[in-house]
Amino acid sequence: MSHSSEVSGRNVCYVVSNELVKISSLLPSNKGRSLLVHSLVKAFGLFSMPPGKHYGRLVVVKPFPADYKDLSVYHSRDYLDHILSPSTSSLTSDVNSEYGLEEDCPYFTGLPEYVRLVAAASLAATDALCQGHTDISICWDGGRHHAHKSYASGFCYVADCVLAVLSLKRGASSMLTLSSKPRVMYLDLDLHFSDGVSQAFASSSSGAAVPQILTLSIHHAAPGFFPVSPLSALPDPSSPSFNPFVLSMPLARGASNTTFARIWPTVERVKDAFQPNFVVVQCGVDGLAGDPCAIWNWSLGGVEGSLGWCIERICHEWNCKTLLLGGGGYNSSNVARAWTYLTSIALGSPIPLESDIPDHDAFPLYAPSFTLDVPSGTMQDQNTEKYLSEVEECFSYVAGVIEKRLSSILEHH
Ligand SMILES: [Zn+2]
Repeated sequence: MSHSSEVSGRNVCYVVSNELVKISSLLPSNKGRSLLVHSLVKAFGLFSMPPGKHYGRLVVVKPFPADYKDLSVYHSRDYLDHILSPSTSSLTSDVNSEYGLEEDCPYFTGLPEYVRLVAAASLAATDALCQGHTDISICWDGGRHHAHKSYASGFCYVADCVLAVLSLKRGASSMLTLSSKPRVMYLDLDLHFSDGVSQAFASSSSGAAVPQILTLSIHHAAPGFFPVSPLSALPDPSSPSFNPFVLSMPLARGASNTTFARIWPTVERVKDAFQPNFVVVQCGVDGLAGDPCAIWNWSLGGVEGSLGWCIERICHEWNCKTLLLGGGGYNSSNVARAWTYLTSIALGSPIPLESDIPDHDAFPLYAPSFTLDVPSGTMQDQNTEKYLSEVEECFSYVAGVIEKRLSSILEHH
């Protein structure tokens, strides 16, 4: 073994380019957000930080626009023909609505480039993992978990999460010496159910001889709350449609650090049963306190159960190659705070939460606190102990089913 051991651990790959920031900042639901996020990561010096305790540096990876072939790995031909066509515009309204380009997903100038570049960004992040350049890749412009095969939905035009999962499933085969195929766990922490991703794998994984993909969405669910889907409910093992590899953990209003600390061992129980080689985490932050959605009361860091605490565990204790993606989040300065903090966690050098926002162009937007922290608010957590033990019991059974399925497969190979 002659590979030189570096001073510290491995580098963290971070996908960004001027073109990506420019085009992502046009997304109608999150105008200017991408620029804010990457500017804050830069302002805190994370691009030029000396190697830390666990990891090396943040290495920038620039995406090149995805081509038709990359996108057609999941998206339908009709959808791509329409969305990538230069003649598509806000004026072709009848056809647009057929592909979901209406209401919360309006056509916007730059849409074809947006779709190509965001897909490319998440795929560049998975490539870095598959090629062994890194154990952690970050793509904050990705995480568009509501996009479907043939239509846009919920501010999402491109199914980059699905493309990333598929890319890890296929691309990693060569790097594993095991006879088994790589397993990919998709964990979604966004306030909203990951309907686009769960749907994509709901039909394919149940009958697969070797289950390679598991999705687990932790989200808010209530009658009429977007997106409405039968897949968003707690698993029902007695149902004929029960699929232990497409899982949902709905939480009630006010979900706080306490609730996340309570469910986390259950999340890890599922992870341990599935034994993934890769974990893709959708880090939507619309569940943090201070988001205009105002449904959960999660905090960024500091205590057990906070978002930062969960990401710390995934990045440094799970022993999986990790892809961190963005997602929802409608208080843009809080999103920048959150993803900057998570980037520093990935690097193994968490920025103290009480840190002042450094002076940079967007500084005034961080009023009135001008610090990094996104603390929880005063909302009451409506997740009762009774409900949370029901969740625990249900998933404990599900984890047992996963273990049985995998061990019977390993015996047969
Ligand atoms: Zn969301």
